[in-house]
Amino acid sequence: MPNIAPSDVTVFKQRLQQLIATPSISCTSAEYDMSNKSVVELLAQWFEDLGFKTEILPVEGFAGKYNLLATRGTGPGGLVLSGHTDTVPCDPNRWQQDPFQLTEKEQRFYGLGTTDMKGFFPVVLAALEGLDLNKLQQPVMILATADEESSMCGARALAALGRPKARCAVIGEPTELKPIRMHKGIMMESVRVQGLAGHSSNPALGHNALDTMTQVLNELILFRSELQSRYQHAGFDINVPTLNLGCIHGGDNPNRICGACELHFDLRALPGMSNHDLHAEIEKRLQVIGDKNHTPISLTPLFPGIASFEEQADSALVKAAERLSGYQAESVAFATEAPFLQDLGMETIVMGPGTIDCAHQPNEYLAHDQIQPGINIVRGLIEQFCF
Ligand SMILES: [Zn+2]
Repeated sequence: MPNIAPSDVTVFKQRLQQLIATPSISCTSAEYDMSNKSVVELLAQWFEDLGFKTEILPVEGFAGKYNLLATRGTGPGGLVLSGHTDTVPCDPNRWQQDPFQLTEKEQRFYGLGTTDMKGFFPVVLAALEGLDLNKLQQPVMILATADEESSMCGARALAALGRPKARCAVIGEPTELKPIRMHKGIMMESVRVQGLAGHSSNPALGHNALDTMTQVLNELILFRSELQSRYQHAGFDINVPTLNLGCIHGGDNPNRICGACELHFDLRALPGMSNHDLHAEIEKRLQVIGDKNHTPISLTPLFPGIASFEEQADSALVKAAERLSGYQAESVAFATEAPFLQDLGMETIVMGPGTIDCAHQPNEYLAHDQIQPGINIVRGLIEQFCF
């Protein structure tokens, strides 16, 4: 990290090491899931040392999960810098070094969460340390959320509280410091066809759930092609909404009428499409098939879903991020907490150090050459929106 003074490099490394050595895995399987409290407390201490007022907010209904909101300065505008405190689970046997210790080699910092996305917080701290925070004209807020990698309960709880509020928000997910102003939504749904089992020799003894499911599959494939001809967006590599039939389970014997069948699929909507409306439309279509076959069909979300996201290309935040990074804002193929923050009324982008290619992988790393440019960009954004 040639542009940082040696003492600052040491501080940066120490902070990153402490964050990596404080596991905060979130997972929908309870056996891997952990509290994020220690990470939140560590961050709260560091931001308090810089004169921030901190609030540790328990996430209602999720024991051991906390959001942190740290604020310095007041005013109606300002900037939120947001990151999630959790990581995905990992298999240490597939790593070449300890995932919970910072290892420096090949001009990279290795460790679980270095890029996704604990490394963003030391970058923010270093950016703040280069500024005279006594001269702030508008607030800088640091948001550190719980469970982004699993339920997004942290972001959902904040949305329910209506906090935080500022003019702009930047989520520091790894984008190689390119500004991201759009992504698709995600919904994952389960379709359950409830038939009636019976001896296969007489079909009249039951209602075959697999027979009905074939009609469901055909309807979903038809619906997909309708959606793809209705909606296109040139800002995405895959420029249409996608619907993937993911897995299916039904029946138990060749000589028994299939009594029940369940299908799981995901649907990734483009900006401008509503998960809620899509669910309702699919439900209506399945109802018709169910009625025709005297077979109840239910459509149930497998998780609460994430909305699609698009920030205006000419918003002040997008323009500032393009100027500071030298890249034109684009889209990514993963979903983030951005729609939750945008819904609170903030101009929102995603931009942070590191590459998503090594996130959720063994030997995750943050390259040294992302760090000083990351600090400069974050500092530039704070200067523009808070001074
Ligand atoms: Zn992430």
